[in-house]
Formats: sequence, structure tokens, C-alpha cells
Amino acid sequence: MKRDAQINALNSTERWDMIIIGGGATGLGSALDAASRGFKTLCIERIDFSKGTSSRSTKLIHGGVRYLEQGNFNMVKHALQERWFLLKNAPSATQKIPFILPVYSWWRYFYYGLGLMLYDFLSGKFSIGKTRFLNRKAVIQKIPTIRQQSLKGGIKYFDGQFDDSQISMALARTAISKGATVINHLAADTFTYDQGKITGVMVKDMLSGKTYTLKCKVIINATGVFADELMKKDDHTHKNMVSPSQGIHIVVDKKHYNSDKALLIPKTTDGRILFAVPWHQKVVIGTTDVKTHDIAIEPKATNEEIRFVIDNFNRYTNQQLTLADIKSVFAGLRPLVKMKNIQSTADLVRDHSIAVSESGMITITGGKWTTYRKMARDAVNKALRTSELPFRRCKTRTIKLIFLVKQSQENSKLLHPDFPYTEADVRHAVQMEMACTLEDVLARRIRLLFLDVNVALEIAPKAGVIMQNELGKDDVWFQDQIKAFSQLAQNYLPDNI
Ligand SMILES: Cc1cc2nc3c(=O)[nH]c(=O)nc-3n(C[C@H](O)[C@H](O)[C@H](O)COP(=O)(O)OP(=O)(O)OC[C@H]3O[C@@H](n4cnc5c(N)ncnc54)[C@H](O)[C@@H]3O)c2cc1C
Repeated sequence: MKRDAQINALNSTERWDMIIIGGGATGLGSALDAASRGFKTLCIERIDFSKGTSSRSTKLIHGGVRYLEQGNFNMVKHALQERWFLLKNAPSATQKIPFILPVYSWWRYFYYGLGLMLYDFLSGKFSIGKTRFLNRKAVIQKIPTIRQQSLKGGIKYFDGQFDDSQISMALARTAISKGATVINHLAADTFTYDQGKITGVMVKDMLSGKTYTLKCKVIINATGVFADELMKKDDHTHKNMVSPSQGIHIVVDKKHYNSDKALLIPKTTDGRILFAVPWHQKVVIGTTDVKTHDIAIEPKATNEEIRFVIDNFNRYTNQQLTLADIKSVFAGLRPLVKMKNIQSTADLVRDHSIAVSESGMITITGGKWTTYRKMARDAVNKALRTSELPFRRCKTRTIKLIFLVKQSQENSKLLHPDFPYTEADVRHAVQMEMACTLEDVLARRIRLLFLDVNVALEIAPKAGVIMQNELGKDDVWFQDQIKAFSQLAQNYLPDNI
């Protein structure tokens, strides 16, 4: 994956079949879908692949046990099917993982047990493991740090887990292998029209400053929480359709949760659920659900949200986590679709929604990572039905995502003794994964910013020098990168430590 080669395609292509704006799960999924149906496809991302919500998830491939309580069985069923396809098509970067739900009263034991059996039942032939009742001893054995007072037992069930940014890269790579052009750091600006119909988009290369006017037959707007921004450029009378909700996670050392099983806390103090999930030798704990009007590229966790996560984790374990235990904290915005008469974002339906503007632009929002393939299929189908393009069937159910086998790293030095990442990983990210900035590497090609902010800051100069050499940049570039990354990293630390 070389960015220069991808950029060259902008000059050599007179008219694209489909331009997809947004390089998150939905946009990259749509690029793979459209390219594999044989359409000349371009996908552009204004910052970096998965820079938005798609790098900030709980990293679960799931049907959403929470939606069972809302009675949304159909949505759960479809998501469970998609869980199966993702696990099957990306076996080297996903895994099934057992979850334990601890219970502290007998009636809840049966209530949750039956609920999770229904969850497995809904997956039908796509089941990935049976739900089981566990006695108290078994729960303590599986999660030694669980709160034992009044513990009655627990329920074990299965879901999937992944690295969201890694799968984004695999989607980009696989889309390119099917003929798509996929470019990061390229922003959609304004649209061009002919007799009221959208005919193309002006884009800007955020690294070189160069602009391009691109022609196409149809545009898919897959910009997540930023969807309204582009919809307003297309139609000045457009009223916001996205109602963003912020969710945060904290990342702590495994000593605070020494188990290879994930924990599902069934009822937080605000009546939601909370997960603690082992991830890359750390533990990710979250999330929250807070309505926000601030659609920031870098959302920031509030002290209140962090307190909430810590308190609820401490209530269900024998740990006394404090702010000082946090290695990283990250916030993301759910691109939920606005509905009338709903007070709380927790009640908003998590299904996706597709809108077609008068000019013919397709906008897709909502959904979740797990259902990206279905969202992409629906968006591309809609694009085909509303444009001059011929209809061809979706093929992504059986397309295996491509993961690069890294070259031998025997002689490559570790970037830090506590993490498996090497200097060769930084070179690989630049040469093979279109990483252009220090942030691209340390936040999304290797996940150090999400795993341990201080370690990420410590090794930033080392990684920066490797990148500088690989990209042939000068010292001013190096200093700018270090400064920008150091500023960004402050967002991933709680305020008062
Ligand atoms: C806290 C939290 C936890 C979650 N956990 C899970 C989970 O465990 N499992 C699950 O299945 N789902 C989960 N989700 C949901 C899932 O992460 C999102 O539904 C999904 O990532 C949305 O992807 P997207 O591509 O639609 O949006 P995004 O990932 O936000 O992508 C949109 C992209 O568009 C780009 N963009 C914006 N404007 C322009 C422009 N003008 N030109 C070019 N590019 C532009 C942005 O930079 C961005 O990268 C979670 C969400 C949150 C917030």
C-alpha cells in the first residue's frame, strides 16, 4: 500500500463510478464492497484510516446483549450473523472470547442466564459457543479479582474481539487488492453539480496542499458523526440527522484484572452495562453514553466519565483503581441517528440509517463496527439503485481480509522493553501501511497511544527519527511531529495526574 501510487490514480482516472468519503469502518467497508462488485471506486479519508470513532471502540464483535432488554431481537440477530462473518473472514486478527457476567442475587442469576441463552439462541447456526451457568467457585476461579461478597455465581457466554484499527487497515488493503483506490489525508471539500445532480467533489491533499476536482457517478458520505457537515454542504436547508453520544474507556495494567476472560458488569449506577476486556496485555474498561453537541475530531473524556468507570469497576472487583492507575483514556463519538421523542442517547436505536439527498448523495450513519459489512452492502445497493450504475450483487460475505505477514524481525530492536513493538514495525507502517505522521504510527498502526500514553511519549523521538529517514523529511518536520504528538497525547491522560 503506497500512498503515492494511490494519489497517481487521481490524475489518471477521468470519472469514478463511486467516491466514498470517510475512511472508518463504514467507508472502508463500502470501498471493499463496491470494488469487489467491479466498480471503479475511490475512498478518501481526511486524516487517517480509523482516526474517527472506528479506532475508539470497545473492540468487541458482538450482537449487543444490551439491546435484548430493549426487545430489539432482529437487530441483535443480524449483528450476531455479522459477528460470524467477521470472525470467519479475518481469523488472524479476531478471536472469540468468553465473557463472565457475575450475579449477586438469585433472581438475577436466572434473569441474566435466560437472557444470555436467548442471545446464543438468536445466533442460530452462527453460534460461537454455548452460554453456561457458573457457580460461585467457578466465577472466582476464572476472575480472581471479582468482588466475592454476596456473589451467587455467574453466566459465561461468548462474543468476538478485535483490534479496530488493524481491521481498518486490512479493509483498506483488501479493497485495494480488488481494484479500489484508497487514500488517507485527503479531505472532501465541496461538491460539483450538473442540473441539480451531484457530479463530483473537490478534494484537498492535507499533506501537500494540492487540490483535485474529481468526477463520479455517485457519492457515498460515510463520515460518521461528521455526516451532517457534508450534508449541509450538499443541501443548505439540511437539518442535523446525527445525535452524537460520547463513550470513554480507560486502559489499565493486567494486575488489576488478571484474567483472560472478559467481564460484563450488568448494571452500572446509571443502569447501563460496563465491560472489562483484556486487550494487547492490558485491560480496556468502558464505556459511557453521554449525549454531546460537540462533534470534535479529538473528543476528550471528562473527569466525571472517568470517575464513573473507575467507581463501577471498583464496585464489582476487589480493586481500588485510582486515576494514577490509568495508562490511557480514550473517548469516541457514536454516530447515532436522531429520533423524535427520545430523551437519552442510551435509548436511541443503534441500527444504521441511509438517506438520499435531492442531488443523489447517499449518506450512511449509525450501526456499529460489527455490522460494517451489512452497512456497506446496504449503502452500495442504495447507490446503485439511485444512480446510472448497473446493479451487481454484493460479494463480501466470503471475502477474506488481507493481513500482511511481517518480515522477520529477528534483528529489529524493541521500541520499549514492556511492549512487543519493534523499529521494524515503524518502517513497515511507513512503507506498507500509508502511515504519514507520528500519530498515524503510534495511535493506529501500533496502538501505544491507546495502551500507555507515557510509553508512547517516551518512544516518540525514536519512532520519529525512523519515520524521518523513511520519508526523507527534514528536522523541522521531525520537531513539528514531536510537538503535535505531545499535544495530542495530553488528551489521552486524565486531567489531574
Ligand atoms: C465508545 C464506543 C464504543 C464502541 N464499541 C463498539 C464495539 O465494541 N463494537 C462495535 O461493533 N461497535 C462499537 N462502537 C461503534 C463503532 O465504533 C462505530 O459505529 C463505527 O466505528 C463507526 O464507523 P464510521 O466509519 O461510520 O465512522 P468513523 O469511524 O467516525 O469514520 C468517519 C471518518 O470520516 C472522516 N471524515 C470526516 N469528514 C471528512 C471529509 N470531509 N473528507 C474525508 N473524510 C472525512 C473522519 O476523519 C473519520 O475517520 C463503539 C462506538 C463508541 C463511540
